Amino acid sequence: MQDRCDVIVVGAGPAGSTTARYAAKAGLDVLLIDKRRVIGVPVCCGEFNASPEVLASTLPNAPGLDELFPIDSQLIRREIREAVAVSPGGREYEFELPGYTLDRDAFDRHLADAAVREGAVLSPDTKFLGREGRQVTTSRGDVEARVVVAADGPLSRVCRSAGMERSAVLAPAITCRVDGEFGDRLQFFFGNRIAPGGYAWIFPKRGCANVGLGVQKRGTPVPVLLRTFLARMGFAGQDVMAGFVPVSGPIQETVRGNVLAVGDAAGHVVASNGGGIATAMICGRLAGLAAADHLLRGEPLAAYEREWRSAIGRELLAAARTKRLADRVLGSDFLLERTMRLLGGRGIADIVIRGGLRKAHASRE
Ligand SMILES: Cc1cc2nc3c(=O)[nH]c(=O)nc-3n(C[C@H](O)[C@H](O)[C@H](O)COP(=O)(O)OP(=O)(O)OC[C@H]3O[C@@H](n4cnc5c(N)ncnc54)[C@H](O)[C@@H]3O)c2cc1C
Repeated sequence: MQDRCDVIVVGAGPAGSTTARYAAKAGLDVLLIDKRRVIGVPVCCGEFNASPEVLASTLPNAPGLDELFPIDSQLIRREIREAVAVSPGGREYEFELPGYTLDRDAFDRHLADAAVREGAVLSPDTKFLGREGRQVTTSRGDVEARVVVAADGPLSRVCRSAGMERSAVLAPAITCRVDGEFGDRLQFFFGNRIAPGGYAWIFPKRGCANVGLGVQKRGTPVPVLLRTFLARMGFAGQDVMAGFVPVSGPIQETVRGNVLAVGDAAGHVVASNGGGIATAMICGRLAGLAAADHLLRGEPLAAYEREWRSAIGRELLAAARTKRLADRVLGSDFLLERTMRLLGGRGIADIVIRGGLRKAHASRE
């Protein structure tokens, strides 16, 4: 492996590969490392992404959506039009939710390949071990890098090496594959016996569905909750994987010294629904461009913080606030049942997808 580069990106998920793609495209010498032997494997994701139209309306100030989305149709496993939210008592609320499901492993490889096509060097099976200024230690040797990008997920070791905080609330989540046909609408199940403080999901793919759940409280372990949910639905799950979703909003400081944080490492997740693929890519693009502006044109690296905050900061903070409010309701099935009835399908959609009620809806209710 090379022993110096302009930018080392740690983590070849959506955030890191997109950062690497844009930094390399601008002409920088980029090294993209990941501890995984095969990029994208194992999958630990619900694999749903909202349509470009939904992204454009929920994140109206996000630049570059037309470059990042739509996704190559070969990668789409099921077109989705709508969703249903099921209350603890079994009442169903339908709402529109255009989007698609993916095979996350193929998708992550596709993004890493795009970075390589722009000239980034990809080094899988390479673990970040530590960092002292520009000197980065990996399982394949030391690398001197002018900029270091923390795209290594919610438990970011790179952020820790720079003394940056990580997300204050990491919600446990678990997913698996269930074979069969599941139509073309997403299903969300709420209730404290199913997913305390969160929800369970069934996201249809081709010939199978991604089934999982995310919780807020660390009471019953998520594998036990998933087994109970699968048994209740009469499903047999395979390829079970558990992880964490950062749900307290972005971290305070995403640039320190020569380190940038992006994606889950920076808390770039829509806390009201746990989705972070699109936001990781939006911020990855900005991180790659900021690294290039810094190294090629002498702009301060801190411009990245301003860029992503003006792109999606307001929406991420609003979603985190909504999540904190929702936590009070989610703790009681009685309150949840009543609130869902009050909100109806559209209000539930606004909270889950947009991270808050739209003004028109709020005043009508
Ligand atoms: C169960 C679950 C379901 C989810 N469902 C959805 C969904 O349906 N839709 C959605 O939009 N979002 C979903 N999310 C969130 C989404 O997966 C993340 O927000 C997204 O993956 C963030 O991308 P990232 O590139 O920041 O991090 P990751 O995708 O986590 O990538 C980080 C990469 O860093 C690598 N890495 C970590 N440590 C090191 C190290 N020390 N050295 C080298 N490499 C390292 C990892 O191997 C990994 O490849 C879900 C999350 C979970 C846990």
